[in-house]
Amino acid sequence: MIVVKNAAELQKIRKACEISARVLRLAGEKVADGMSTWELNRIIGEFIHRHGAKPSFLNYRGFKGNACISVNHELIHGVPSKKRILRNGDIVSVDVGAHLDGWHGDNAATFKVGEVSETAERLLRVTEESLFAAIKFALPGSRIGDISNAVQTYCESRGFYVVKEYIGHGIGRELHEAPDIPNFGKPGKGPRLTAGMTLCIEPMVNQSTPKTKVLNDNWTVVEANGNLCAHFEHTIAITEGQPIILTKLD
Ligand code: MG
Repeated sequence: MIVVKNAAELQKIRKACEISARVLRLAGEKVADGMSTWELNRIIGEFIHRHGAKPSFLNYRGFKGNACISVNHELIHGVPSKKRILRNGDIVSVDVGAHLDGWHGDNAATFKVGEVSETAERLLRVTEESLFAAIKFALPGSRIGDISNAVQTYCESRGFYVVKEYIGHGIGRELHEAPDIPNFGKPGKGPRLTAGMTLCIEPMVNQSTPKTKVLNDNWTVVEANGNLCAHFEHTIAITEGQPIILTKLD
């Protein structure tokens, strides 16, 4: 069942989303050559706690981190580590949520460490643009398939591959709620959108294959060929008019 939120509930989700967005921006400002993903994780946790919230992902199904931090060929669910040192030329995906007053916000972005390859630049740009291409379809009366298809078409027509095993989701009192929001699909299919739905749209895009593998730590999901991948995510609210991007800062 898709839970539709009223105005007061949306206001609470908005606050959780604002903390999520601000900590993601902070993470992007802090990434630097020589920094461990552990240190980045510490900065993220400190910010979230200082703003009266809790990291949504910490201990979620046993996850040991305030955020998922995934480097280069790692797509999602990277576990922060003192041994994982960021280097110039890396790309690093940070996926972070804040839990405030009973409500969750969730967002992700892939950041550059120093100067990165042309391929990395292009992958990041296309993945982020696909998110905004999809949000254009987040209108009352549209279907989830319209969003899914927008991501898929945008990325595949530019030579990249959308991941099929991991998908976006509804959000609210739970971090993951109905509906599922795949990054592939057919327009006109799937649940119909109505005002008051809150959704996490999150393109996960690979350089050379749609396939992924899970590493031996049972968390880290990687591009199956070991090439680059990117991840961008916003929490949005469906309204009677244009969608509100709750995790976008002005
Ligand atoms: Mg998410």
